[in-house]
Amino acid sequence: MTAANNAISIERSLNKKTKPAQDQLGFGIYFTDHMFVMDYSVEREWHNPRITPYQPIVLDPAAKVFHYGQTIFEGLKAYKTEDGGIQLFRPRDNFARMNRSNDRMSVPELDIDVAIAALEQLIAVDQDWIPDLPGTSLYIRPFVIATQATLGVSPSENYQFIIIMSPVGAYYPEGINPVKIHVESHYVRAVVGGVGEAKTAGNYAAALKSQQAAKEEGYTQVLWLDGTQHKYIEEVGSMNVFFKINGTVVTPALNGSILAGITRNSVIQLLKHWDVPVEERVLSIEELYEAGRNGTLEEAFGTGTAAVISPIGEMNWNGEKLVISEGVTGQLSKSIYDTLTGIQTGAVADPFGWVKK
Ligand code: PMP
Repeated sequence: MTAANNAISIERSLNKKTKPAQDQLGFGIYFTDHMFVMDYSVEREWHNPRITPYQPIVLDPAAKVFHYGQTIFEGLKAYKTEDGGIQLFRPRDNFARMNRSNDRMSVPELDIDVAIAALEQLIAVDQDWIPDLPGTSLYIRPFVIATQATLGVSPSENYQFIIIMSPVGAYYPEGINPVKIHVESHYVRAVVGGVGEAKTAGNYAAALKSQQAAKEEGYTQVLWLDGTQHKYIEEVGSMNVFFKINGTVVTPALNGSILAGITRNSVIQLLKHWDVPVEERVLSIEELYEAGRNGTLEEAFGTGTAAVISPIGEMNWNGEKLVISEGVTGQLSKSIYDTLTGIQTGAVADPFGWVKK
């Protein structure tokens, strides 16, 4: 995009919405007054960046996104600091991952600086939407959709890049709590060579059936095993997963079917900073259960933008139950949670350069 068409036009909303109470926010239910939109065509590439009132998007029913799922998304948060400032957590990493997803899904890349400038302007326009109760934040959802209205199976020639934002409530209003996890032995989320490491809609639709079945049996989430052998641990729900085994923290290595979580990377860096041994490697469900049976499995937790850390208190693999950390939140899980959320909200110093004010 050239400098000449780089300027973001702003159309302010004349009908400001009533803001919901900060203790009633939930997740992704309410949306701010404005959104960012930019178009792509083969001739003009990315153009017409604009901030408009939040509104429905009108698409032709033949738009490729509806039929072939050519779409990607991201998820990150903005936080209000105690002194009234606003900060983002590793936004550049999210937009870099967005471009990796774009590449996998044959969507044209975006200029990361343009995307960050757009996000900063949108946040400035809607800054009074950032909640400040402890644990709350502004969840940001950038996404790209294929809009060309032709049914041929080929990469779209037109796209829209959109950013919407939603004030979200505290993930743990009553304190950080362990969840029960069902180990999925039939369905799979992704395979190596597929699209598991892209943040694309179909991965999430494919996971719903298993997630629903697990919920019906009283489990909060599903632990995904590898797509070919059902043997190696990959992710938990839409989070990366970590296990503390005999003093060492182990997380599945990025193998092409696992999403490269920003929180995952932050936890690894933090553990190294603390001199806690951490390994990225293959980890079989059998090895994990063996550690559980012989008492060396000390803690387990998922990591992701929404909850930051989600401790695992119990697992069920083909009927064999494993209680972890006596079903309570482990010491390391708690320390990581407190430190990461502290850095995100400005309460703890950031030695890593993750925060963008
Ligand atoms: N795995 C999947 C499948 C996800 O959707 C997410 C959420 N983006 C994660 C892991 C965690 O990634 P992050 O820490 O960047 O939120």
